[in-house]
Amino acid sequence: MTELSDLPIRDDLRGHLPYGAPQIHVPIQLNVNENTHGIPAEVAATILADLADAVAGANRYPDREFVRLREDLASYLGHGLGAEQLWAANGSNEVIQQFLQAFGGPGRSVLAFPPTYSMHSLLVQANYSRWVPADRGPDWEVTPEIAVAAIERERPNIVFLCKPNNPTGTGLGLDVIEAVYDAHPGMLLVDEAYAEFESGPSALTLLPGRPRLVVSRTMSKAFAFAGVRLGYLAADPAVVDAFRLVRLPYHLSALTQAAAVAALRSAPAMLAQVEAIKAERDRMVRELPGLGYRPWPSEANFVLFGGVEDPRETFEALIRAGIIVRDVGIPHTLRVTAGTPEETDAFLGALAGLRQPPR
Ligand code: PMP
Repeated sequence: MTELSDLPIRDDLRGHLPYGAPQIHVPIQLNVNENTHGIPAEVAATILADLADAVAGANRYPDREFVRLREDLASYLGHGLGAEQLWAANGSNEVIQQFLQAFGGPGRSVLAFPPTYSMHSLLVQANYSRWVPADRGPDWEVTPEIAVAAIERERPNIVFLCKPNNPTGTGLGLDVIEAVYDAHPGMLLVDEAYAEFESGPSALTLLPGRPRLVVSRTMSKAFAFAGVRLGYLAADPAVVDAFRLVRLPYHLSALTQAAAVAALRSAPAMLAQVEAIKAERDRMVRELPGLGYRPWPSEANFVLFGGVEDPRETFEALIRAGIIVRDVGIPHTLRVTAGTPEETDAFLGALAGLRQPPR
């Protein structure tokens, strides 16, 4: 049998393993920060009706410029944005990939503040850009001082900020984004995948007059649409022109466009559970210390908690209880998605059953 290593694969891919969270089919899935509430049946029915029309016209290529979708995304975001400032792709992962194809590449560097979203460094490396990590503060915070010092030290071509940050849940003040923009002459990407859960203002408010600022978003999290794969960005129209240079022709299928437009029409119903999810997040932050763990405050739909003696063992014990969480590789921590009240009950109940001695 032919092995991958028998093939003349690119040298830098030799020996690599594919990235991806384990997909283990247990009843309670709290590992990839989805909206666990599901799509309301009446919304699913309206999306299906629009999909039927899209299928009937699927002998034609889709609108390469997905104008309707960009108009609807602009209205959804508000902030006075127009369709010419919006772009979308198959998940914000693809948005970030296209961003790097346009602005990164060999000889260019990307400064970021780990621990952060693990795909950021993988996409940077796959794009032959150089990943430049800089330290966060003691509770994972990035202040204007920390950010500007790193920029002055590293002189990167690109800066990535994650607001709120995955996997720590840490919020990010607009003062940091303003300071980074002023100190750094290159492109600045602010990944706002979890923006709908954050209490503070969005980086979108800073777009006017800042053509090197790109704010990426996704329908995968609060919007309960991870399976459809729709990520997007808002930026200066000139940035959108740059994305046109690197996207594959017709990269957004007619079905994706139709589903996203239909879901945006029902935005209030799709987002109806956001407050309930935040309440579960805050409940986990409140209750985990009583079980001997140390959660960090979170502005997203997940909680990173420390004080886990052996994350592998706790992960396995939770799997046996029918619950999957995420080991993000930070020593003595695990990350859990905030879901329904019943899911929180099951998670906290299972942890209580492990009887880790309080610290
Ligand atoms: N950014 C961040 C910070 C994320 O956590 C994720 C998903 N885990 C993404 C981007 C990518 O999400 P998607 O491709 O589904 O939009």
